[in-house]
Amino acid sequence: MEPVPQTQARLNGQVAIVTGASRGIGRAIALALVAEGANVVINYASSSAAAEDVVNEIMAGGGGDTVGEALAIQADVSKAEQVDALVNKVMEKWHRIDILVNNAGITRDALLLRMKQEDWEAVIDLNLTGVFLCTKAVSKIMLKQRSGRIINITSVAGLMGNPGQANYSAAKAGVIGFTKTVAKELASRGITVNAVAPGFIATDMTSNIKADDIVSYIPLGRFGQPEEVAGMVRFLAADSAAAYITGQVFNVDGGMVMA
Ligand code: NAP
Repeated sequence: MEPVPQTQARLNGQVAIVTGASRGIGRAIALALVAEGANVVINYASSSAAAEDVVNEIMAGGGGDTVGEALAIQADVSKAEQVDALVNKVMEKWHRIDILVNNAGITRDALLLRMKQEDWEAVIDLNLTGVFLCTKAVSKIMLKQRSGRIINITSVAGLMGNPGQANYSAAKAGVIGFTKTVAKELASRGITVNAVAPGFIATDMTSNIKADDIVSYIPLGRFGQPEEVAGMVRFLAADSAAAYITGQVFNVDGGMVMA
């Protein structure tokens, strides 16, 4: 039998920033982009050991032409000065940025009448303003390069709402509007901007949700895995066919939302 051909490294020499890549979906996205040959920034807020573990895992499997390198950079991406410092560090090391995955996100759940303003603001600051800050800083570089792919991780909560998540749903719906507007603004310079909307994915974020309560709402009958979200991001970032896709939202949700 013929050997199965190895996936071609389609991102050799390219540089990707994945925000919130120390754990969960961001980690899986970083590994998927490295497997395509990209050099990847593992951004994190406080989990330095987890971020270094991701870097070590990547560097241990590295070498050759087909696997990229990784660099961990701490930055709270809800803060403009920290985002600028992050982008400057990447430019000092690799002198270009080809892919931005706005993945970092938090939840601070409470029903509306019990939601504190600080819970509202913390979620909007990271999940929406963080996307704005990173996209603005990186798009300056992509505009000069006249190419780039930006992928924003939103959520089905931004499409259908979810009780207890007024802050999170508003931020994620905001990311969708932001994605469509920026896609129109940057299209003429060869930069695509898309969003991926996961459903329930097995990560720390969902670890206290009882699967039994949820799976009856998921046609495919299970939580998704981080690698299944990463597969969509990998397509949007690396595939030549994705060059003609912009301003779109792709659900990776086991069929929860069918438009
Ligand atoms: P997770 O396992 O909780 O990981 C969150 C990541 O974000 C961590 O790497 C964390 O870094 C980072 N982060 C937190 N605050 C940050 C900040 N201020 N600046 C930079 N990085 C920060 O979450 P996940 O489940 O993988 O979720 C990833 C994305 O997918 C989020 O945008 C989330 O809203 C979205 N999503 C998740 C699901 C799901 O079911 N899991 C569904 C829909 C959408 P530290 O490790 O340093 O804290």
